[in-house]
Amino acid sequence: MRDQPVEERRAEAGQSILAAGPALAASEADERLPISAPALVGNELEYVRECLESSWISSRGRFGEAFERAFAEVCGVEHAVAVNSGSAALHLALLALGVSPGDEVIVPALTYVATASAVSYCGAKPVFVDSEPCSWNLDPAAVAAAVTPRTVGIIAVHLYGLPAEMDVLEAIARRHGLFLLEDAAQAHGSRYGGKPVGSLGDAAAFSFFGGKLLTTGEGGMVVSDDPAVAEAARRLRNHGEDPLRRYHHTELGFNYRLTNVAAAIGLAQVERFDWHVQRRRANAARYRSLLDGHPALELSHAGPLATTTVWLMSVALAGATTARRDHVMAILDRAGIETRPVFPPVHRQAIFAGPAGSTLPVAERLAATGLSLPSGAMLSECQIDRVCAALMQAIADTESD
Ligand SMILES: *Cc1c(COP(=O)(O)O)cnc(C)c1O
Repeated sequence: MRDQPVEERRAEAGQSILAAGPALAASEADERLPISAPALVGNELEYVRECLESSWISSRGRFGEAFERAFAEVCGVEHAVAVNSGSAALHLALLALGVSPGDEVIVPALTYVATASAVSYCGAKPVFVDSEPCSWNLDPAAVAAAVTPRTVGIIAVHLYGLPAEMDVLEAIARRHGLFLLEDAAQAHGSRYGGKPVGSLGDAAAFSFFGGKLLTTGEGGMVVSDDPAVAEAARRLRNHGEDPLRRYHHTELGFNYRLTNVAAAIGLAQVERFDWHVQRRRANAARYRSLLDGHPALELSHAGPLATTTVWLMSVALAGATTARRDHVMAILDRAGIETRPVFPPVHRQAIFAGPAGSTLPVAERLAATGLSLPSGAMLSECQIDRVCAALMQAIADTESD
């Protein structure tokens, strides 16, 4: 594998020479490893060319619906509504599920800020709960304890791709008459109990940001089996226009439409869905074979019902200070390895900071000591070996921190 020319390996992976870019010039050992680069290995270029040559570059054209149908199929749901970001998908899903000002929605503290922002866009209040130390996902016991008479729903984030404990969360939601929305922005292709994420709650939101598992540049999708949710999302993404009367607006909506060009990229990505999923899973298996059980590292672990498509392989440095974590990240950066800190918990963000002294210890510890490693679909086994060797060296070099 190591001696095979880069061109050949890229060709095997399905990547065109055109898409390979300047990386071809550099030897692999010097190559900078990005955290999660898009893998544009299918019909992306051909479909985008079709948009440009036909001048269908705005939100009308053949790719929007084709992308929605293909994505609904891989999620095992009836309806999919494409929008221009994952944040927009969350916002519309919450509105379609009836969230209004004054409501409370339970969200994990350990997530990207957009999960909580979408709740605030609706005038509702995000109520933050802690993570469960094994899975890093929201702790069902903490969710049950956070329910109040104002609670209307729960957002289950599948953090870094690992599915949340949906059976238990669904039981809590049922008992209290709450909706269960999946924030699947990081989890395309993961499964729980044999079913794809996106098909497990009342609705789900996906992101197609450049660094996510599948990408359209920027983009998102609302998926649901409920036709009313899909219809509401369709109206709201288009300024609340009455579908039968042009320029007649029955409710306050938004311009959250996805362009035909972005949908063209999305369709090409979904056509190679299994390839993307398999590459990410193979990466994670390689990482785990090298890192699992290491005394200096804490990894997340999925329960027996979960099959994970890992978005970003993430580890926490057991017992480390944040200064040491940052030092490890700086050493890796100098070795040409891009990393990211685990998301600072949202309840600590300036825009959401709750009452002083509110602590969510697991989320805070993982955020203080965690980092994400290069995880893109194009990563090779020997590049993963290089990352792990550099990580081990950096851990050893920072022991006195
Ligand atoms: C990326 C992400 C979003 C937002 O998606 P955008 O497409 O960037 O708007 C929402 N939730 C989570 C958990 C994410 O990782």
